[in-house]
Amino acid sequence: MKAFVNENPGSIDEAVMLAQAALREGRSVSFAGGGTDLLQLVKERVPNRPGSGVPDVLVNLKRVAGIDQVTRNDQGGLTIGGLTSLTDLGANPQLRDRYAVLAEAADSVATRQIRNAGTLAGNVCQRPWCWYYRNGFDCYKAGGNQCFSIAGENQLHAIFGGGPSFIVHPSDLAPALVALDARFRVAGPGGDRSLSSNDFFVLPNEDVAHENVLGDDELLVSAVIPEPSGEIRSHFYKIMDRETWTHAVVSAAVVLEMDGEICRTARIVLGGVAPIPWRVPAAERLLADQRVTPELADSVGIASIEGARPLAKNAYKVPLTRRVVERAVLAAAARA
Ligand SMILES: Cc1cc2nc3c(=O)[nH]c(=O)nc-3n(C[C@H](O)[C@H](O)[C@H](O)COP(=O)(O)OP(=O)(O)OC[C@H]3O[C@@H](n4cnc5c(N)ncnc54)[C@H](O)[C@@H]3O)c2cc1C
Ligand code: SF4
Repeated sequence: MKAFVNENPGSIDEAVMLAQAALREGRSVSFAGGGTDLLQLVKERVPNRPGSGVPDVLVNLKRVAGIDQVTRNDQGGLTIGGLTSLTDLGANPQLRDRYAVLAEAADSVATRQIRNAGTLAGNVCQRPWCWYYRNGFDCYKAGGNQCFSIAGENQLHAIFGGGPSFIVHPSDLAPALVALDARFRVAGPGGDRSLSSNDFFVLPNEDVAHENVLGDDELLVSAVIPEPSGEIRSHFYKIMDRETWTHAVVSAAVVLEMDGEICRTARIVLGGVAPIPWRVPAAERLLADQRVTPELADSVGIASIEGARPLAKNAYKVPLTRRVVERAVLAAAARA
C-alpha cells in the first residue's frame, strides 16, 4: 500500500481547508467516509481522483460533527447528513414510513458490515466497479485515454448513455435519491452550493474521467429530500448476479405521487444500466393520472427500454430492465 497522511478535521470548513492545502502543495487528496471503498482503492494503488493518482492525503470526515443523522427540516422534508451510515438509513422510521425507496436501497447494499461503516456520501461518490479500472488498466476513469470494455468484457456495462466510457453508476442510493428529487449540499473553497441530484451526476460524453460535478476540493455534505405535495408510494427493486455482497445488475427506484388509487405523477430511475442514475421520462408519462394495473405496468416496462443500445455481451439487460420496471411499479402501487 502507498503511504498516505490521514487528516481528521473537526468541521466541514477545516476539511475543505486541508484539501486545498494538500492540493496547493502538489499532493493528491481524497475525502473518506467509512473507507469501505476508498481504502480498497488505496491498497490496490488504483487512482481515486483521475489525473492525480493514488491519494497522498486522506481527509477523514468521521470527526466532523452533525452530519451523521436524519433530521426533519423547516420545509417539512428531510435533511440527511452525508456521514449517515447505510444501516441508520435502512432503520430510520421516517424514511421507512414516507420514503421507503431510500431505506430499501440502503438495505440492499453489500453486507451488514459494509452498511455499518459505509456512508451516504461515500455511497453516492464511489468510483466505478468496472473490472478494467479496478485492476490497474489505464483507461479513461484512471486518467488514461481509452476504454477497454468496448471490445472486451462488457457483460455488466451500460445499455444507455454510454461512450466514451461504458461504466454503470454503482451506487444503489443514487437512483433512489434522484427518484425522490433530492437536492445535494456541496461544500468547497467558494462556500456552500446546493444543486439538484439530477444535475450532480455527469455522463462520460460531458466529462469522461468523473462521475459527478465535484472538484477535488469539494465534498458532499448532505442530501435534502423535499416534502411531497401528496401521498407517495415508492419501491426499490434490485437484481444481482448472486444473493448478496454485490452491486445491481439492474435496479429501479420508483416514486408514485398518489391521489387515492390514481397515480398523479411518477419518477422512475434505473440503476446498473447507465453511467448515471437513468430517468425514463416516456415510461413516467404513461403513469400520469392513471390507475396502476398490470397491463399499464407492462406498457411502462416496455417504454422504459426505449433507446437502449446494448454492447456485444449485455443485451440480456434489455428484457431484464423491462421486467424490473414493471415489477417495481406494481410493488410501489400496491403499498398501503
Ligand atoms: C464487497 C463490496 C460490495 C459492495 N456492494 C455494494 C452494493 O451492493 N451497492 C452499493 O451501492 N455499493 C456497494 N459497495 C460500495 C461501497 O463500499 C459502499 O456503497 C459504501 O456505502 C461506500 O461508503 P463509504 O463511506 O465507505 O465510502 P468511502 O470508501 O469512504 O468513499 C468512497 C468514495 O467516495 C468519496 N467520498 C467519501 N465521502 C465523500 C464526501 N463526503 N464527499 C465527496 N466524496 C466523498 C471517496 O473519496 C471515495 O472516492 C460495495 C463495496 C464492497 C467492498
Ligand atoms: S468502461 Fe469506463 S472504467 Fe471500464 S474500461 Fe471503459 S473507460 Fe474504463
